[in-house]
Formats: sequence, C-alpha cells, structure tokens
Amino acid sequence: MFQGLSEKLQETFKRLRGKGKLTEDDVNEAMREVRMALLEADVNFKVVKDFVAKVKERAIGSEVLESLSPGQQVIKIVNEEMVALMGGVSSKINISSKPPTVILLAGLQGAGKTTHGAKLANMLKKQGKHPLLVACDIYRPAAIKQLQVLGEQIKVPVFSLGTEKPVKIAQESIRQANSQGQDVVIIDTAGRLHINEELMGELRDIKSAVKPQEILLVVDAMTGQDAVNVAESFHRELGIDGVILTKLDGDTRGGAALSVKAVTGCPIKFAGIGEKMDAIEPFYPERMASRILG
Ligand code: GDP
Repeated sequence: MFQGLSEKLQETFKRLRGKGKLTEDDVNEAMREVRMALLEADVNFKVVKDFVAKVKERAIGSEVLESLSPGQQVIKIVNEEMVALMGGVSSKINISSKPPTVILLAGLQGAGKTTHGAKLANMLKKQGKHPLLVACDIYRPAAIKQLQVLGEQIKVPVFSLGTEKPVKIAQESIRQANSQGQDVVIIDTAGRLHINEELMGELRDIKSAVKPQEILLVVDAMTGQDAVNVAESFHRELGIDGVILTKLDGDTRGGAALSVKAVTGCPIKFAGIGEKMDAIEPFYPERMASRILG
C-alpha cells in the first residue's frame, strides 16, 4: 500500500535526520521533495499546496531549526499535519437512540457497495448488533442475488421485494426491522457508471423517505482523484456523512486516502482492504500516516 510515496518520503526524512543542523534552505528543499512525492501519489493539487505551506510555516522557525534534533522535529510536523489532513481522529457511525439506525450506502457501480454493505453488517454483528441488509439495487438482478449470497455467508438476513420501487423497499425494510428486532438497517442502492440525475433523484427520494442517520458513500481508492471528485459531487448533490474507501489493498498511490477529507470535508470512516468479509477496518488517520511515513 502506497509504497512509492512511502519510499520517497522516507528517503527525504533520512537525509533530514542525517544533517544535524538545518537551515531554512534544507527545509525548503525537503518540502520540495515532499511536494513532488505527494503529487506523484495523485494527491489533490490544492491539498498538496496547503499541506506544504502549513508544514513550512511551522518548521521554519528558530525553535525548530535551533532545536537539538531539527530533522526529527520537521518529520514530527509532517506526521501531525498528515494526520490532520485525514481528519485527525477516527470517525464513528451515528447510532440512533431509537432503533433501527438506518445506513444508506451510495456509490458508483463497481466501487464495492454491495460487498461493503455485507462487510459492514458482518462487523456490526460481531459488535453485538442485529443488522438487516436491504436490496434496493433493483436494476441488476445479479445485485439482489449477490447480497443474498453474502447475507447467507455472514448469517445476516436480507430484505428484498424484487423489483418493487426502491423507496417502497426501503420503507418496508424498516417496518420489518422494527417488527423483528433488527437494530441496524443497511440499504444497498443502485449504482451507475457515472453520476446522473436519475441516480441522485432516486437516492434523494430514499433519503427523504427513510431519513438515514448515516449516508455512506462507497468509493474505489484505486481511481485516485476520480474518487475524490465523485465524493465531492455526491456530497454536493445528496449530502454524505462519510466515505468508505474500498480496495485500499490494491491502491499503490494513496491520493484518495490523503485528499478526500480535505477536499470534501467528509471523513473516511472505513477502509476496505480485500475481498473477504472481514476485510474492512475503521479508518484511523494516525495509523494511516504511520504506514505512509514509516
Ligand atoms: P458495487 O457494484 O459497488 O456493488 O460493487 P461490488 O460490491 O459488487 O464490488 C465490485 C468488485 O470489487 C467485486 O469483485 C468485489 O469483490 C471487489 N471489491 C470490493 N471491495 C474490495 C476491496 O476492498 N478490495 C478488493 N481487492 N476488492 C474489492
């Protein structure tokens, strides 16, 4: 994961550490390298610019440069700013005080929505919750089947009304959850190849009908800045509470992970790291920064 970025930053840091005393020029040179490495990792241009400016502002002061280990201090600042860039703390799901908590999953086709609906259900089940998966992707018969197969695998019930209208399916699923004691309802919606008005209209209708506590957008990390643009559009058009960043296991660059929060204001709440049902983890900015910076 993010090997290129990691290697480049670690080389820069090695040089910084090796220097003992640092001048302003040394910091500028190091930050030029950091800037290049981030841009090559497909981090959003403006995010990189702001990031570098912030680190420089904090690093080029007499306190840092004249400290006993200035290189180490600069590295610490990079680390702190990188954690801040990804939202600082890990963000939890909003759980409703009155069950069921309704989670609406949105995203483009192929991003990993159905898989992550099931992964999320599996994770919540292990935490003692009683989830219900809901099949609202009525346009692809295979999607309903896929959800049913995954539901069986993780032993979580799946609610489906075939090709009935998605709003009706969502509403009925909540009635069923109430009557059967399921406390989390996870709604898998239809994806499209591209964002269009039809998709957004349908999502808005489901949103106003079931008032989800949490709208999570599922985006594919491997698509880099496209994932960030998709998140920006969904947030503008629908309003999202967080992002599930999938396929991080296949993402060699890291651009989406480092840009989503800064560009959209929405935190990454979960990361998908494989195809298996347990390949999901809460997104921890600190852990991610440590992975990148070594
Ligand atoms: P949807 O169209 O958004 O519902 O996408 P799917 O859930 O059907 O996922 C599309 C493909 O991506 C499937 O082959 C999944 O197995 C795969 N996939 C989903 N999440 C991950 C992940 O985190 N890592 C990897 N390597 N593959 C994933």
